[in-house]
Amino acid sequence: RAKAEGRNLYRAFDPAMMSSARGEITLEAELRRALANQEFELFYQPQIDLRTNRIVGAEALIRWRHPTRGLVRPLDFLPFAEETGLIIPINEWVIAQACSEARGWCAHGLPPLRVAVNLSPVQFRNRNMVALVDDILARTGLDPKRLELELTETILMHDADAVTIELRELRKRGVSVSIDDFGTGYSSLAYVKKFPVDRIKIDQSFVRNLTSDPNDAAIVRAIVNLGHSLGIDVIAEGVDSADQVEMLRAEGCEEAQGFLFAKPLPVEEFLALVQADAAVARSA
Ligand code: C2E
Ligand code: MG
Ligand code: MG
Ligand code: MG
Repeated sequence: RAKAEGRNLYRAFDPAMMSSARGEITLEAELRRALANQEFELFYQPQIDLRTNRIVGAEALIRWRHPTRGLVRPLDFLPFAEETGLIIPINEWVIAQACSEARGWCAHGLPPLRVAVNLSPVQFRNRNMVALVDDILARTGLDPKRLELELTETILMHDADAVTIELRELRKRGVSVSIDDFGTGYSSLAYVKKFPVDRIKIDQSFVRNLTSDPNDAAIVRAIVNLGHSLGIDVIAEGVDSADQVEMLRAEGCEEAQGFLFAKPLPVEEFLALVQADAAVARSA
């Protein structure tokens, strides 16, 4: 049912339709309304430390709980939000919401998990990220060490010098930085050399056939070794089998994230999972 809804929605938001002036105004107005009415929600996907098997963090992934269309996935509205610039207020909401929710988890007696948010290229170009993050951290009281910013190579491609300065400032505060979808861009190697990063996220396209395709296995091994030589931690995305975990662990990959452990979950379900994980650890 969710799938069918997703497909209908995709058709409703067909780019061809959006190019008609009317369709464009409609989706833009809908996104503005969504912001005003708090229709956005964050799902959390756990990140697992492969050395301890414990949940050590989560990636916050936006969902749109549309009043008539149901749950809308990011790829069905974020590209349009990027085009119109609406991504800026939307993503500011994402960072603030993630920090505020993560701050509250401690009150539940949960371990101080890391929370990762995805940044948009448009947002990075148009906003002083340091001031924004400072403001959000001050308002929410989240320990900066618990916040991670996920950047794509598209962000690093533009204004490299300005971005480097901002990343340095953010890392001074204890905020960590990761490169998302690592290996899919044009100059991944140049980016890890140039930018101050704490973690690289191996793109799921290399993980998917890790156990059957020797080329993918070689690439994953190379990325893990590269990270380690540079003192950067590595996390594998899209992990959906125990065999993949075994290989990743053997290569020394620190962390993993994927459907094998959990799909992105509504916050209550995510917290229940963390609570169960903490209970297992206590009884071990
Ligand atoms: P991403 O940052 O690379 O996020 C990972 C995507 O892979 C998520 O899709 C997640 O649900 C999916 N995934 C995780 N594990 C598995 C797995 O084992 N198998 C498979 N097949 N997929 C898996 P999602 O939530 O649909 O997000 C898609 C993309 O939308 C994200 O890719 C990210 O680039 C963007 N995005 C999501 N939330 C935000 C946000 O708040 N702000 C911005 N700027 N972008 C966002
Ligand atoms: Mg991401
Ligand atoms: Mg990714
Ligand atoms: Mg991706």
